[in-house]
Formats: sequence, C-alpha cells, structure tokens
Amino acid sequence: MFHCYGYAATSSDTPLAPFSFERRNPGPKDVQIEILYCGVCHSDLHRVRNEWGGTIYPCVPGHEMVGRVTAVGAKVTKYKVGDVAGVGVMVDSCRECANCRDGLEQFCDNGNTETYNSYDKHTGGHTLGGYSSHIVVDEHFVLRIPEGLDLAAVAPLLCAGITTYSPLRRWKVGPGQKVGIVGLGGLGHMGVKIAKALGAHVVLFTTSSSKTEDAERLGAAEVVLSTDGKAMAQQANSFDFILDTVSARHDVAAYLELLRRDGTLTQVGVPVEPQPIHAGTLVAKRRNYAGSAIGGIAETQEMLDFCAKHNIVSDVELISIDQVNEAFERMLRSDVKYRFVIDMKTLKARQ
Ligand code: NAP
Ligand code: ZN
Ligand code: ZN
Repeated sequence: MFHCYGYAATSSDTPLAPFSFERRNPGPKDVQIEILYCGVCHSDLHRVRNEWGGTIYPCVPGHEMVGRVTAVGAKVTKYKVGDVAGVGVMVDSCRECANCRDGLEQFCDNGNTETYNSYDKHTGGHTLGGYSSHIVVDEHFVLRIPEGLDLAAVAPLLCAGITTYSPLRRWKVGPGQKVGIVGLGGLGHMGVKIAKALGAHVVLFTTSSSKTEDAERLGAAEVVLSTDGKAMAQQANSFDFILDTVSARHDVAAYLELLRRDGTLTQVGVPVEPQPIHAGTLVAKRRNYAGSAIGGIAETQEMLDFCAKHNIVSDVELISIDQVNEAFERMLRSDVKYRFVIDMKTLKARQ
C-alpha cells in the first residue's frame, strides 16, 4: 500500500475536506497515475450528498481524471512511466459476461466497479475517486490521451464527453437531422459540440437566457428558452433526437412532444425524483423514451480520438481543491461555464 491524499465527504451533509488514505501498490496489470486534473461532475454532487441513496462514506468523488503514469506492473503493455493517461467512471468489470464481451462494461451483468463508491475487490473496502493525488487502475480501464490537447480541458471528456458521445452515436445522429440538447451544463455543452461535429442541426434548450451566446458559439444553430411556452410550441413534432442532460426535476413530457414520428428522447441526466410521462405522449407518434449510461472503454477511446480529430475539448473553469465545495453550490445554481476542473497541484500545496 502507499499513501495518498485527497478530499472526502464523511457524511451527506458535511463539506468535502482533506483526507488521507492508502491505495494498493500496482499489481502486474495495474497502472499507477499521479492525477493532474479532475473534473467536477454533477454525479459527484448527487453521490456525495447521498441523493441517489447508497453512498458509502468516507466518499472521495471524482471520475474525470487526466494524469501522468508514475509506475506500471510487470505485465502492463499499453502504458509506460511518463505517459499521459485518463481514467473515467469505471475501474473494473467482470470482463466475462455478454455485456463486457460486447465492450459495454458499463452494463456488466456482475456489476462494474465504479471509480468511487463501489466494492473494491483488491482491498475489500470501497473505491475512492479522483479528487486525490494518485489512482491505481487495471490498464484495461485506462485511456490513452491524444497528444496536443489542453489536459485540463480533456479531463471532462472522461465522463461528460463519453456520456454524450455514446447516445449520439447509438442513435446515429448525423447530417440532415434536427437534434435537441436539453441543459447547458457539463454534459450539455459537450453534447452541443459533439452533435455539431457529427453534422446535425443542433437546438439547445436552456432555462438560462444568459447562456444563449455561449450556446451559439459552442455550435447550436438555435437556442430555445424552455420557460417560453410559445417558443417551445414552435418546436413541436420536429426533432429526430433529443438528449436530456438535466440534473433536476423538470417537465420531460414537454420535450417528448417535440419529437417527430419515431423520434427518440434519451435521458442521461438522472434527477433524484421520478418524472411522470403520459403514455399518450409516446403512443401519439410512436415516440421512444430511452436512457444511456456513459460508454464502454473502447468507445471512450474512440470518443477521445474523435474529439482530438475535431479539436473538441471542454470549456473549463480551473479551480483549486479548496474551492470544490463552492463549485458544488455554483453547479446547483447552473452557474458553471461549463465544467469545473480541479487543478491537483493545489492539493499537493495543501499537504
Ligand atoms: P450540470 O453541469 O450541473 O448541468 C445540468 C444543467 O441542467 C444545468 O446547467 C442547467 O442548464 C440544467 N438544469 C439544472 N437544474 C434545472 C432545472 N431545475 N430545470 C431545468 N434545467 C435545469 O450537470 P452535469 O454534470 O452536466 O450532469 C447532468 C446530469 O447528468 C446529472 O444528473 C448527472 O448525475 C447525470 N450524469 C449522468 C451520466 C450517465 O451516464 N447517464 C453521466 C454523467 C452525469 P441550463 O442552465 O442550460 O438550463
Ligand atoms: Zn460524471
Ligand atoms: Zn461483465
């Protein structure tokens, strides 16, 4: 074991605070990474505050990491000391079930090991995430970061990027299609960029009128204020695909009404409370209501390479680790442009 430090929550209503812990030394297939940057995902907030239930404390959140390889096990073939590497939402899975064999480790029938808040088969405890100095991960779950990209701005691709890329590809978004993105936060702003790069006509739905110019700069052809009933009605029955990234309770049915015949609305945001939908809304135009979770490891690598090719990174606000509690509060107010990323140098400075 070796010593690590990070920030952890010790209960659902205490702020994140400095925390020391041990991680396993790298085994034969493991990569040890010194974390340089870690994005702040709304899932971190949901989880730290136990909004979905099942949070195990102490909770070190963080699943959007970019770092430098500091050690590798004897059987590691893909990484060497000094490489830049990424880690996202998963650090392990059974690798034997049908979903794992299909490269969809996020749907592992035996439960994938999430980067934090999962059972850790190596220690018997629970996994601890990226708001920390180092992480040790089996090389299968480590991502290669294409050269030439701003590393702080790449970090959010490891969750926000893949969570939007995967459904946009799964539902074959491309030229000639009208695609809606609901919410301009961490996921939403990546959704706009990636859908635009895929060639779609992108419409951004927001509750924040102040985000209109940014949405256009990021690639939206149209911006609709979702509180404007008339503007919403004008979009009725016109979308091939809508990606809903909203983190809080909202009227999903209002967006289903905007789908054309056979259109699909895919939910990636996971609000805490159930959201009622009348079957008639789906029946009326054979509409589809779907969900999607991050993406498999191979697809995450494909996404990183796609983003490098199209020069896509996240728009980030770099923060120091001691600003993370304030960042959570700002995220709740939709006041983030468009992903907070923790500069991990500031963590070291504090030890
Ligand atoms: P975020 O940065 O906080 O963005 C969420 C956006 O939703 C806000 O910026 C805001 O956009 C909009 N919004 C917030 N409250 C709203 C409300 N009451 N009504 C309508 N719109 C509202 O969060 P994120 O990191 O992108 O995550 C979004 C959600 O996705 C979270 O629930 C997270 O847990 C989930 N998630 C899921 C997956 C997955 O695999 N499925 C992966 C990562 C995250 P506007 O200001 O533009 O309205
Ligand atoms: Zn996330
Ligand atoms: Zn599996």
